[in-house]
Amino acid sequence: MDAEIKALRETLQRSKRAVVFTGAGISTESGIPDFRGPQGLWKTVSPIDFSEFIGSEERRRERWTRQFSSENTMAKAEPNSGHLTVAQLVKAGKVSHVITQNVDGLHQRSGVPDEQVIELHGNSQYAKCLECEKRFELAPLKDKFLSDGTIPMCDDCGGIVKTATISFGQSMPVAAMQMAEQASLDCDLFVVVGSSLVVYPAAGFPVMAKENGADLVIINNEKTDLDRLCDLVIHQQIGSTLSAAID
Ligand code: ZN
Repeated sequence: MDAEIKALRETLQRSKRAVVFTGAGISTESGIPDFRGPQGLWKTVSPIDFSEFIGSEERRRERWTRQFSSENTMAKAEPNSGHLTVAQLVKAGKVSHVITQNVDGLHQRSGVPDEQVIELHGNSQYAKCLECEKRFELAPLKDKFLSDGTIPMCDDCGGIVKTATISFGQSMPVAAMQMAEQASLDCDLFVVVGSSLVVYPAAGFPVMAKENGADLVIINNEKTDLDRLCDLVIHQQIGSTLSAAID
């Protein structure tokens, strides 16, 4: 067995309460491009920020057009072996929480219970009313939008409906941030998977865990600024690395 995989396996075995923190890298292996990466969508299509979405029906129409486009890879993506291995670790009681920067909902789809997934940037697989927070599933909104161009509005209060993501210009979700902080402080092992850790405040969690005595592991296909703090760094494919470590 590869020495790094062996070290990862032993670190996981030693841990009694781990946290897994995931970024775009775990989902690129499911075919979802990293929007911020070098081939990222946002190099060619600029994101619609929160104030634009709220302020302009035209921008809302554009946002929903993108959401319901056949080129929206996120809507079609399936969990890969990375997600499935994380779900196994949660099920085995090894991992208390999965903190994620992703909005694709693939951790839940792979079997991690909702209450153990902490979504720092929300979720694009359902929508919410911005006024009363009523939840809307996307399928009926899509049918209506594609048939007659109706922009989703709340049928209870008339509020603007938006995917449950945290857009640029929208404040970070307070409850999720607090949960992530608590989970980071409570763990004895913090495993970063597929995040380049450049976006704060998210990148603060591994530092917080490490300073509080947890082991820190990073599995990512490229170097990160926090590699120097780590007990173990693995620059390899995520799915195959994780699944080999628990085989
Ligand atoms: Zn409403």
